Amino acid sequence: MAGRLDGKVAIVTGAGSGIGKAIAERFHREGAAVVVVDLKADRAEAVASELGDRAVPIAADVTRPEDNQRAVATAVQRFGKLDIFMGNAGVFDGFLSLPQYQTPDQLVEMFDRLFAVNVKGYLLGAYAAVPELLKTQGTLLFTASTAGFYTNQGGIIYTMSKHAVVGLIRELAYELAPKIRVNGIAPGGTFTDLRNAIPLGAEFGDPDKRSLFDMPGLDQFIIQSTPLRRVNRPEDHAAVAAFLASDDAAGLTGVIVHCDGGYGIR
Ligand code: NAD
Repeated sequence: MAGRLDGKVAIVTGAGSGIGKAIAERFHREGAAVVVVDLKADRAEAVASELGDRAVPIAADVTRPEDNQRAVATAVQRFGKLDIFMGNAGVFDGFLSLPQYQTPDQLVEMFDRLFAVNVKGYLLGAYAAVPELLKTQGTLLFTASTAGFYTNQGGIIYTMSKHAVVGLIRELAYELAPKIRVNGIAPGGTFTDLRNAIPLGAEFGDPDKRSLFDMPGLDQFIIQSTPLRRVNRPEDHAAVAAFLASDDAAGLTGVIVHCDGGYGIR
């Protein structure tokens, strides 16, 4: 059976790990050529070499405009065009609440870091990709989060950053229609390396509260608060991303699919 993304060219950021890696693998399996972007060169290379043909790794920092431009230029040079840009690279705040910050400097450091990657990174990626996507009538996709809609899915700054991602998706969907479809996925709690991606030092804050992901029994906590009684896997999110990227979703723009086992039905 033909793949739904046969002949398409995709960029996936943060594709060296977790949800982005699963998306790169799924896009590739559905027939796309994939530019595998990650801050960590070894991760990008490992994923691209696992994919084999139709995959190229790029070590890039999505917070830098020139790195986003380089990713798009690589897609065009290597594969001739760009059809799908999937902004996914993100960092987390370890569920830190406002009072847990011991100094304003810590608050500013976390804010700058998370907004640089989670928000500016997506904006710069879209800016770099849109000229090529206009040529192919392509599609933009972003990984949001249940933290873009609900409380207690992250700390204060992560939640703010993912609310901004929801705004980015909805506004861009309006601005770029009818040529470019813009959609997103909103994963609920998913076991990935994101729990290790807290950008501040280990001594920062209260170590016992730094990451709920480190709590014993977290999987049971998620299962109990999720109507489908499961912890979604990166592959579950990748399946939704592949649908949104494909022509099967030709009628959808401005949609953010909640991949959360029904957490939000309340
Ligand atoms: P992860 O840490 O496993 O993967 C993130 C990848 O992004 C890493 O390989 C990292 O090196 C890369 N990265 C970080 N900063 C970067 C930068 N500046 N430039 C390029 N690459 C960079 O995390 P994940 O859970 O797979 O997260 C992927 C996305 O899913 C994020 O946007 C995250 O906010 C979102 N998300 C995750 C969960 C979850 O529970 N894991 C839930 C909702 C949303």
